[in-house]
Amino acid sequence: MGIEILYKKEEGFVPFLRAVAGKRVAILYDVNTAPHAKDIREQLRSAGCQITDVFYPDAQLLPTEDKCAKAQLAADAADYVLAVGSGTLNDMAKSVATRAGLPSGVLPTAASMDGYCSAGAALMRNGFKVTDTVNPPAHVLVDADVITTAPREMTAAGFGDIVGKYTCLADWQLSHIINGEPIHGEAFAMMEQAREACMGAYEGLVRNESEAIETLTSALLQAGLSMALCGNSRPASGSEHHQSHYLEMDFARRGEMIPAHGIKVGIGTLVSLYLYEYIGANRIPCKNAEAVYALCDTLPRWQNVRELLEGLGCPVRFSEIGVREQVMRDMIRDAHTVRDRYTVLTFIHEHGLCQRVTPALIEHFY
Ligand SMILES: [Zn+2]
Repeated sequence: MGIEILYKKEEGFVPFLRAVAGKRVAILYDVNTAPHAKDIREQLRSAGCQITDVFYPDAQLLPTEDKCAKAQLAADAADYVLAVGSGTLNDMAKSVATRAGLPSGVLPTAASMDGYCSAGAALMRNGFKVTDTVNPPAHVLVDADVITTAPREMTAAGFGDIVGKYTCLADWQLSHIINGEPIHGEAFAMMEQAREACMGAYEGLVRNESEAIETLTSALLQAGLSMALCGNSRPASGSEHHQSHYLEMDFARRGEMIPAHGIKVGIGTLVSLYLYEYIGANRIPCKNAEAVYALCDTLPRWQNVRELLEGLGCPVRFSEIGVREQVMRDMIRDAHTVRDRYTVLTFIHEHGLCQRVTPALIEHFY
């Protein structure tokens, strides 16, 4: 796929600067990331690049058509598009670069989500969220000192996205057990190892140490690489992400601010862990039941994961992030329809358990 991940601490961004030397580079940034754009702009200037700034004064940038049009104009007259930012700016840069047939890069300013390396870009069109297929970035420039300056909620959200790898990998195994869906061993192992490394760095994350932040960032980037490796989002996205997408659509329909991706994923993970525990503890009759129960036993207890999330300041109830109670009830019933992918939510639906589990889910997670 050709995504080059460069860590400033190690070799610096030299290979990147060499690749773009003398080229016309469009740099996308907003009011929050402007100080970091300044540093990389100087380095690009020194490498003989011609810079076009695409600056957004927005504190809460939304990837709407008109915002993208501004970036597209600059991209069409450039050789390379660089985003200095997190989710939104990265998605916009990948999108406009793909349309212009150019390579893109990103300098992440927060370890907030796992989409940096992905071949998807979440954009807004006619007020709706759409996900376009785009080229992944050619370069990811990781400067842990930049990322440690991000608001703590963003790091907490990134950790929420990583705990989601417990349930998305379990969903993959569940589908393998029930439907015989193949598992891509290498992609699975890559994501699992990255998750474990991140869990091992937890205490450092609480203290906002740059080494731990780099481990978290690396795990989030591995998510993208493992998806690229197996050709779909199975290694990084399961029932916890489907809950997040379901809520996102509801927030967007109401025209309300959408809470951070990783925060929603973190709470969704607790819901999914509860469901696995419920299936295992109640020995719900199903196909290949013993293998299903064994899988349930491998997962961490939701109470323990909740404690970790709380330790980083993550909300752990949907009511804390503005979700309406009825919407959570609808989500438990319908989120399995968000993607055509078998997860624990599909299992609960197929086995007629939604009504039975809803009161406890509301009690614990609303
Ligand atoms: Zn995610």
